[in-house]
Amino acid sequence: MKVLKFGGTSVGSPDRMKKLLDIINPAERQIVVLSAVSGTTNNLADIGQAYLTGDKPKAAALIAHLKAKYETFIQELYTKPAYVELGREVITYHFELLSGLANDLFTPIEDKIILAQGELLSTTLYHVYLQEIGIPSVLLPALDFMKIDEDGEPVIDYMTEHITPLLMQHPNNKLFITQGYICRNSFGEIDNLRRGGSDYTASLIGAAIRSEEVQIWTDIDGMHNNDPRIVKGTKPISHLSFDEAAELAYFGAKILHPQSVFPAQKYKIPVRLLNTMDPTAAGTLISMQSEKGEIKSIAAKDNITAIKIYSSRMLLAYGFLRRVFEVFERYKTPIDMITTSEVAVSVTIDDTSYLGEITRELNAFGSVEVDVNQTIVCVVGDFGAETHGYAARVLEAVKHIPIRMISYGGSSYNISILIKTADKTEALRSLHSRLFE
Ligand code: ADP
Ligand code: ASP
Ligand code: MG
Repeated sequence: MKVLKFGGTSVGSPDRMKKLLDIINPAERQIVVLSAVSGTTNNLADIGQAYLTGDKPKAAALIAHLKAKYETFIQELYTKPAYVELGREVITYHFELLSGLANDLFTPIEDKIILAQGELLSTTLYHVYLQEIGIPSVLLPALDFMKIDEDGEPVIDYMTEHITPLLMQHPNNKLFITQGYICRNSFGEIDNLRRGGSDYTASLIGAAIRSEEVQIWTDIDGMHNNDPRIVKGTKPISHLSFDEAAELAYFGAKILHPQSVFPAQKYKIPVRLLNTMDPTAAGTLISMQSEKGEIKSIAAKDNITAIKIYSSRMLLAYGFLRRVFEVFERYKTPIDMITTSEVAVSVTIDDTSYLGEITRELNAFGSVEVDVNQTIVCVVGDFGAETHGYAARVLEAVKHIPIRMISYGGSSYNISILIKTADKTEALRSLHSRLFE
């Protein structure tokens, strides 16, 4: 059974929603994961923000504005008055829920309930559309099987246990629709897999049902060899290994949610990145295979903070790095890059929630320097120990840009450099022209 995920732009208008049937084959048993209509999750986040700041009139205005968009949407999506009416009932239900939150104490729990409405709306409206045109489908509630634990990590066994009986209840049904992004947390509350999380949903469902293939349908013809929003002339990559795709997703290639490769990789499920606007384009296949000795792609991750701990006590001492890392562990703050010298160690983090506490504790070891507004630029390819010359080519391309850190050799498929965010565009363009043109 395949899992097909369609992103926000792929369901972004009534016309686009209707066109999904050019891609979905209703005769094949499959699970279709839908994102919210593009823009909706941003709008919902704004509504949540208005409530959080106590600005109820602003929340009400934002809700009315979004509701009006959906009213137009259903007028164009459905043909028969009875179905327009059904669509209106769906909208009324979700928007009354949003307005009703004005009367409650507003906490992050309510905020997540708000964020969940986008995917609940898109899937229900699509399900009703399929009913109107007479295509049988079953709407699977993601909140009944998508689960994260107290650390925010997905619980795949739970998902398998809960989705399998749901699928078995409908042995003759082919098409299953479900929501991307949303899940329940360890308290059973409504939660989500973070922004862009529908890719992650698709990969997790793929893992949970041991799917034969996961397809991520989006608005571009696969993973490109650089960020197409910044660099002109980028090209799609036909093959990536799981490791290469995971590095690119983690280090900023927006086409994939940062965590979304791991579940598919664990069960060796091939992932295809495909273009809804051009369904016959080859796209990118992510699998066990990789092409040897090639530079594949460049990505960049912003909002990085670099921390340098300088200590003469590090000299010839053992246990120093462990004590440094323990500080980050205590504050559940992941480290991305690390470089060391005899008397200093530099690390980067992107979650700065506990930066104050962390630097205060690190001060006990020596002097601490913090640099904000940094970007990790990551070059991905096959840089095994037997290959040579790649690091030189990368550094040559950015020789006019100040570099804060360099990481090479941590894995055989990644060279990373840390630069100021202000230099990112130039770095990406220069690397592109030196490495690919
Ligand atoms: P969806 O809504 O379908 O999930 P996203 O906007 O999340 O789509 O991801 C697709 C977008 O990712 C593309 O439109 C493109 O602008 C951006 N992008 C950034 N880096 C890359 C890359 N290396 N290859 C392809 N797309 C990328
Ligand atoms: N709708 C969610 C978002 O905009 C999830 C997704 O689109 O993948 O972040
Ligand atoms: Mg996305």
